[in-house]
Order: sequence, then C-alpha cells, then structure tokens
Amino acid sequence: MDILSKNVDITHLSNYQTPAKAQWYFELSWEDDIDKLSEIVSWSKEENIPILWVSWGTNMLFAFDVYEWIVVKNSLVWWTYDENSKILESYWSEGIWSIAESLEEDYWQDLWHRFIGLPGSIAGAIYGNAGCFGLETENNFVSCRVLGLESWQESIIQKKDMDFSYRSSVLKETKKHFIISAIFDLSEKIEKYHSDVDNIDFRENKQPKWNSCGSFFKNPSREQSAWFLIEQVWLKGKEIWWAMFSDIHANFLMNTWDASHQDMLHLIEMAKKRVKEEFNIDLINEVQIITNTKND
Ligand SMILES: Cc1cc2nc3c(=O)[nH]c(=O)nc-3n(C[C@H](O)[C@H](O)[C@H](O)COP(=O)(O)OP(=O)(O)OC[C@H]3O[C@@H](n4cnc5c(N)ncnc54)[C@H](O)[C@@H]3O)c2cc1C
Repeated sequence: MDILSKNVDITHLSNYQTPAKAQWYFELSWEDDIDKLSEIVSWSKEENIPILWVSWGTNMLFAFDVYEWIVVKNSLVWWTYDENSKILESYWSEGIWSIAESLEEDYWQDLWHRFIGLPGSIAGAIYGNAGCFGLETENNFVSCRVLGLESWQESIIQKKDMDFSYRSSVLKETKKHFIISAIFDLSEKIEKYHSDVDNIDFRENKQPKWNSCGSFFKNPSREQSAWFLIEQVWLKGKEIWWAMFSDIHANFLMNTWDASHQDMLHLIEMAKKRVKEEFNIDLINEVQIITNTKND
C-alpha cells in the first residue's frame, strides 16, 4: 500500500509520549486526502487491519511498542463563525481551545469561555463529549458530517442521534464513523451545572504541567471524584519510574520524563485494585488505552 508510510515513530502523537511506533501510517492534511482514505479503508478491510484515528492525542495512552493497526493522523484545520446566525462550523482537527479564545477576542462571543485551556481537537471533543466546569461539547452541538466506515458514504448525524453522555457519544460506542466536520449553534448558553471556578486560573496555575492526558479515570459520580478516591488509597504523588499520579491533582497520570507504557499501566492497575478493595468501586478509564488487540 504505497500511500502508507511504514515503521513510523509515533511517540509524539500521544500526550503521554511513551515510546511507540506504527507499522502503517498516514497523515491527512488536505480535503483532497479524504479520497485517499477510501483506498486505505478498503485495504484495511481486505487485509483485516483496523484503523486508529488520531487527532491531537490528548486522550490516548499507547500501550504497545509497535502498533500493528493503521494509524491515520488527522491534521485538517479550518473553521468559520457567522456572527448573525451564531453558527460555528469547524473541521475535525481544529483546536477547541484556540477556537474558544478567538471567538472571545475576535467576535465578542463568550459562550465557549469554559473551553479556553481545554486541549484537543473538535473531533476528539465530540467523540468523547469533552467538558469542563459545567460546559460540555454536546451543549451547543447541532450536527456533524461523517464518513461511515462500512458503507463509505458521507452523512450528517444530528444531535438527537448522537447519544451523548458523560465523556461518551454514539461515535465512541460504535467506532463506525470518521468525523469530518461539525456545526455548533452558539446562540444560547446551556450548561450542565454552574461552576464558579476561574478556568483560566485553574489551567494555568492549578493543573499539573507534565505530559498527561488530563484526568485518567472518570468520576464515579458528581459527588465522588476519582482524584479523591486515589488520594484516599495513598497514591497521590506516587511515582513508578517516571509514571506518576500528580501530587497536585491525583487523577492526573503523568509521564514525568521517560516512562514506558508498562510503568503507566502498572500504576493504573494499582489504583484500580486499591480503590476496589477499599471502596468496592470500579474505576473506569476516561483516557483510552490503545493496544494491538483493542482500543477501549
Ligand atoms: C492537560 C489536559 C487537561 C484536560 N482536561 C480535560 C477536561 O477538563 N475535560 C475533558 O473532557 N477532557 C480533558 N482532557 C482530555 C482531552 O482534552 C479531551 O479528551 C479531548 O477532547 C481529546 O481530543 P484529541 O483531539 O486529543 O483526541 P484524540 O486523543 O486524538 O482522540 C480521542 C478519540 O477520538 C477518536 N478520534 C479522533 N479524531 C477522530 C475523527 N476525525 N473521527 C473519528 N474519531 C476520531 C480517536 O480515535 C480516539 O478514540 C484534558 C487533557 C489534557 C492533556
């Protein structure tokens, strides 16, 4: 398959920066490249090699040395905002943080203020319904343009069919679509709950700075935070080689220098085991652990 590069170092594609290579790799940078995707998808079906889509890699841990799937890195950027209709349209790889910042600075539109400081792309945010301080991606979402990986047909998925829930969507549950672009309606402020936290101060001064993907585990409930449970089992600040649960925010798993994915997994399992034993609670990953057998 000529379009794909072979044996590419993809360490930098995940924010954890654990050493990793991909056997097959393609970077999608232009709208015209979408045509090449159909070749890649049919080859992947013929050879029975699945595809992993990577945008900014701020929500995935590479748990392999050499990845046997095809890695497609999405780099298509462009967005537009109509001040009259208050409709925002964006391609998948635009950064949600920079859009939120520009909306405020250039258009006096502050409905996405909470997203200033939220790393990752539009596609990643939709896929996992990213959210912070009461605002979630689903709140102003209207629809997204997708390619069906089985039919290879383009279609539009409306909000009512997205099945958004806490850090999830139908796209994450089924893994059958590739997100091309999305539309948001920023005419109404809709929040899940009210928060008085100053998000810019939080991101700049209270959030750990090492390589991480933010909170590793989902909060079991609004009343019960994963960081609190990790603290209670004495893992806040715990470091195994260079894998560490932050001493500032215990649910931030970090690579402080040169951690391997094995070091990271060791610490994750330790937290799960201790929290289960102590509180009978099963911690669920918010970050996806990518392996050669599954992408959960
Ligand atoms: C410091 C820090 C703080 C964070 N704080 C928060 C927070 O407050 N709230 C929060 O919700 N998250 C937070 N996160 C996590 C992260 O910001 C979000 O999960 C983000 O939305 C992921 O976007 P991404 O582009 O990096 O996605 P990626 O990690 O590249 O991908 C995530 C998933 O989306 C899939 N995907 C990517 N592109 C496409 C596509 N075009 N079509 C189909 N599937 C696709 C991937 O296959 C993967 O399964 C934080 C991360 C960091 C590093």
